[in-house]
Amino acid sequence: MRISLKNIVSTCMITTLIFPLFPFATTEAEDITRKKLEEHLQEKENVLNKIAEQDKKLQSFVDQINETNLKIKEIQKQAAPIELRLTNAEKELKVYDQILRKRVRFFYEHGQFNYTSQLLEADSFGQFLYKLETLRLIIKQDTTLIRERQEVVQKIKQEKSKYDLLVTQQNEQIKKSKEAYNKIVQEAQKDKKNLDVLEAFEELHEDDFSQINLEDWKNGKLRFPYDGPMKRPSNGALTSEWGYRNHPIYKRPILHQGADFGGGTGSPIFAAGDGVVVSSGPSSGYGWLITIYHGEKNGKHVFTRYAHSYPNQVKVRAGERVKAGEHIADVGANGNVTGPHLHFEVRYGNGEKPPSSNPRKWMSI
Ligand SMILES: [Zn+2]
Repeated sequence: MRISLKNIVSTCMITTLIFPLFPFATTEAEDITRKKLEEHLQEKENVLNKIAEQDKKLQSFVDQINETNLKIKEIQKQAAPIELRLTNAEKELKVYDQILRKRVRFFYEHGQFNYTSQLLEADSFGQFLYKLETLRLIIKQDTTLIRERQEVVQKIKQEKSKYDLLVTQQNEQIKKSKEAYNKIVQEAQKDKKNLDVLEAFEELHEDDFSQINLEDWKNGKLRFPYDGPMKRPSNGALTSEWGYRNHPIYKRPILHQGADFGGGTGSPIFAAGDGVVVSSGPSSGYGWLITIYHGEKNGKHVFTRYAHSYPNQVKVRAGERVKAGEHIADVGANGNVTGPHLHFEVRYGNGEKPPSSNPRKWMSI
C-alpha cells in the first residue's frame, strides 16, 4: 500500500515538473479529491447505517423465531397427554369391541333360541317381563356405552387435530421468518462487500484523506458530534489519578492533568474513541504527544492526548481518522518521566488550550 502511495506521489511530482505552466492543476486535483472524500464518507456512512439496520432486523427475526419455537414446544407439551389419551381410548375401544363381538356371536349361536326359550321358560308373566327388561337394559347399556366411547374418542381426535393445525401454522411462520432472515443475511453480505471496497479505497487514499482532514481541522471545518463513552486507552494498571498532587520537585500541589497507566515499555496504547488525529509529534516534557479530536459535546471540543511514546512506536499521524480501541502507539519513557508509562489526558473546551478533565468522567477506568 505504502509503495503504491509513493508511486502516486512521485507521479504527481513528475506531472508538476512536466507541466509547470498549469497553475490550477493542483487545486483542481485537490478539489476532486475533496469531493471524492466527501462522497466516500457519505457512502460509507450510508453502508454502515444500512448494515446496522440489517443487524437490528436480523436480531428481531432471531427473537421471533425463538419465540415461535418456544410456542411450538409448549403446544407439543400440551399435545402429548392428548395423544396418550387418544391411544388409550382406542385400546379400550378395541377391548370393548372384542367383548361385544363375543356377545353377538353367542346370541347368534345359541342366542335366539336359548334366549327365546329362556323367556318362554319364565314361570310367570312377571318373570317373563323381568327377564325381558333385564335383556333390554343390557342391550341399551351396551349401545349407550359404545356411543359414549365413540363420542370421547371423537372429541379427543378433534382436539388433537386442532393442536396439529396449530403446530403446522407455527411451522409455516417459522419457515417464513427463516426465509426473510436468509434474504437479509444475503443483503448484509452484499453490503459488507461494498464496505470492504470502500475501505480498500480509503486505505489507498489514506495520505490524501489525512491531508484534507488536517486542512479542514486547521480551517475549523472539521466538525462532528462526540460519540461517547470512551474506552480505556491501555490494559496497564492505573498508577496515578488526575488531580492535585504534591510535586516532588516544586514541593507544592500541582494539578496532574491526566491519568497514568503502567504496563511496561512496548505495551499497546489504544484510541479512547472515534476521531481524527490532529497532531502527533515531539513535545517537551511529554516526549511525544498524540492529540485526537473526538468531536463536539454541548458546543465544546473533546480531545484526548497520549504522551511519552518514542517516535518509532507511534502508528498514527496528523489527519488520520481513528476508531475507538485502535492501536495507535506503544508505551515508552520518552520525555520528563521516571519510568515507562502512558500519560493520558482528556481535554474539554474551546480555544488554544482547553482545560483538562478527569478521565473518570469520560470512561470507566
Ligand atoms: Zn501523568
